[in-house]
Amino acid sequence: MSRFGRRDVSQCKFRTSWGGARFCQDPAYLEGFCKFHHAALLRGEINERGIINERLSDQRRRREINFHGIETGDSTYVEG
Ligand SMILES: [Zn+2]
Repeated sequence: MSRFGRRDVSQCKFRTSWGGARFCQDPAYLEGFCKFHHAALLRGEINERGIINERLSDQRRRREINFHGIETGDSTYVEG
């Protein structure tokens, strides 16, 4: 068995508030985030835990960050 076989380390750790617990489906790029969310981290729009900065007042940008990498076209609830 490989010590590096964990699947979750290769996927973005950003968790959206959409529908409970959904993770961004993009592959991890740096620090556990995909390229998009890592860029948001560098810009201070989210913190290292993937929480959107409360001072980010642009609602369109918040939605863009929150819904990046997930499917929002249906109501399917995904667990785990
Ligand atoms: Zn991501």
